[in-house]
Amino acid sequence: MTTIAFIGLGNMGNPMAANLVKAGHKVIGFDLIPENLALAKEHGLTIAEDAQGAVKEADVVITMLPAGKHVLSVYGEIAPWAPKGALFIDSSTIDVESARKAHAIARENRLLSVDAPVSGGTGGAAAGSLTFMAGGSKEAFARAEPVLQPMAGRIVHCGDDGAGQAAKICNNMILGISMIGVAEAFVLGEKLGLSHQALFDVASTSSGQCWSLTTYCPVPGPVPASPANRDYKPGFAAALMLKDLKLSQEAAQAAGAATPLGAEAAQLYALFNAQGGGGADFSGIINFLRGANG
Ligand code: NAD
Repeated sequence: MTTIAFIGLGNMGNPMAANLVKAGHKVIGFDLIPENLALAKEHGLTIAEDAQGAVKEADVVITMLPAGKHVLSVYGEIAPWAPKGALFIDSSTIDVESARKAHAIARENRLLSVDAPVSGGTGGAAAGSLTFMAGGSKEAFARAEPVLQPMAGRIVHCGDDGAGQAAKICNNMILGISMIGVAEAFVLGEKLGLSHQALFDVASTSSGQCWSLTTYCPVPGPVPASPANRDYKPGFAAALMLKDLKLSQEAAQAAGAATPLGAEAAQLYALFNAQGGGGADFSGIINFLRGANG
């Protein structure tokens, strides 16, 4: 049994922490929202009075927070209180620069650290089937792997500090671009009198095949489990896709990488969000594109 502090018990953190409890670990939780703490208690977590109290006796500290600024502020607050040699795992999706700063804070406090963002959404968090993309030293990764196992379907060591976040934003840039591509093809097909099913049957077994088509198909019908069949209820909200596309654009600018389609995808999702689409699944961009086409 490992003593794990879990900070950030929102839509993702709560079910992830519940799977650690089910695996037999002692999990001490903290969040700023009382309702999230109440739910965590139902899941079998011990609730701490504050973040520092949660980490005092922890072998491992996991954070699942909204953005880089939250992670850096929480790391600054708790790192001096954690036992020396403890392992810090940040599973939030944040910018690569903040992730590297978080590793530096951990190192200054003689802690091991891994950035380990996830793919798989709230469904994957509940099912314990998330894909973890990890960045950090071999030693830190070796310690993190068995801790992540009860929450994971797949765990990939992507490289040194920040490599997990780099893999995450590159993957989600592909996803944002491919969803727009698939949605545009359906909108064009509609104008050409092609049925959704016919286009799906061809593209899903041809060179247009991709996850945005075969798992999150943006029109109702061909893939019954896709959010399009439940009025685009997320799933993966368009606001989160915009967040990830902005992170990839910031990283591209800092690294001097040319990502013109990533930039265009970020702009289209920003417009979709500005028109009130942020709470819808990201595949709902097809409705925005239909509007844009008149
Ligand atoms: P969420 O907003 O539901 O949860 C974040 C939690 O952090 C909240 O409960 C909030 O109260 C807590 N928090 C913020 N500041 C805090 C502090 N100082 N101390 C303690 N708690 C604090 O968000 P989420 O959907 O759980 O996402 C968490 C992270 O995972 C984000 O970085 C997101 O981009 C990423 N992510 C989300 C999904 C998804 O489908 N929801 C999928 C993959 C990755």
